[in-house]
Amino acid sequence: MEILLASHNPHKVAEIAQVLPQHSWLSLHDVGFQAAIAEPGFTLYQNALIKAETLYAWRAQPVLADDTGLIVPALGGAPGVHSARYAGEAADDEANRAKLLRKLADQTQRKAYFLTVLAWIDENGQRYFFNGRVDGAISEQPRGEGGFGYDPLFIPTGHGETFAEMAAATKNAIGHRGRALQAFRAFLEKK
Ligand code: IMP
Repeated sequence: MEILLASHNPHKVAEIAQVLPQHSWLSLHDVGFQAAIAEPGFTLYQNALIKAETLYAWRAQPVLADDTGLIVPALGGAPGVHSARYAGEAADDEANRAKLLRKLADQTQRKAYFLTVLAWIDENGQRYFFNGRVDGAISEQPRGEGGFGYDPLFIPTGHGETFAEMAAATKNAIGHRGRALQAFRAFLEKK
């Protein structure tokens, strides 16, 4: 099936295409959609649906959207739904990571989890959600060159390496997005 992916992030596009190579994925770049998509929701579910609906309204074809947050209980759940803009509206990944390390400097509890919510609008316009979570902890320093976003700071439970130190296929096999995509794949296979 040809699926439009409502994301400007090439790392997400690559991770999704790796888990579901049997489908043909169109990125926003492929279809010439250049505008930034606002994320005004209070939850990852709202933002994932807003992204999917924005694209579906623009081009009625099956669309998948991903909204992901890093939740740190010691920080009251921050950065959570604000993960992309944690250090400010124009913040880049490095600034977001630096702010997270500053906030955790005097904390003994460094547990965290990633949550991915996928919003799927099918060929009949029906809406569905899938999610995936991975638990872990925030490292003291950024480590590794792979991945993106908070990956250099996130050590999944049961592993010694950050996501950025792992092979992409390993992150996908155990990670939040990979788990959400496995649920999505199982749903498509049952249809
Ligand atoms: P969004 O889902 O594109 O809104 O991303 C929210 C924020 O979380 C951005 O700062 C991303 O860089 C970050 N992020 C999203 N997915 C991942 C991931 O798989 N690993 C690390 N950071 C991520």
